[in-house]
Amino acid sequence: MASPTNSQKTVSDDDEVDYSIKPEFYDSDLDDKDELWMVKKRDGRTSDAVLSCPACFTTVCLECQRHEQYVTQYRAVFVVNCKVDTDRVLQQNAMPSKVGKRRRDSEMQETGSEDNEKVNPVFCSACSTEIGVVDSEEIYHFFNVIPSEP
Ligand SMILES: [Zn+2]
Repeated sequence: MASPTNSQKTVSDDDEVDYSIKPEFYDSDLDDKDELWMVKKRDGRTSDAVLSCPACFTTVCLECQRHEQYVTQYRAVFVVNCKVDTDRVLQQNAMPSKVGKRRRDSEMQETGSEDNEKVNPVFCSACSTEIGVVDSEEIYHFFNVIPSEP
């Protein structure tokens, strides 16, 4: 009676609804994000910001990526004016670090998958302020830095 072909109906249902109430370009915001995403993904080395030491403003990184969820956290492979304390090993729980320097498609599944990541603290070489950590894949994670436009 009402639904003779159930399987086909479920497929086309969304389309029918869309035509009547679809707002125009309400997701222009999404466009911006997509663009950013593309830029970031292009070769994995596009910089989101220049990072500076919060204490003495020495530049510590010119090429970094801002973390998707933790906007105050940045990760980088190439750094300047940093020193790593290799004697001190920290255990970082659920460190969002598994997104590799050259991996491109794993960003979505990174959170909480790996715990007990071993990392070394990273300091500003000028004033020895602790500004982040470096993980076993030599990816730097900065969370105590001042970002500015690249
Ligand atoms: Zn400093």
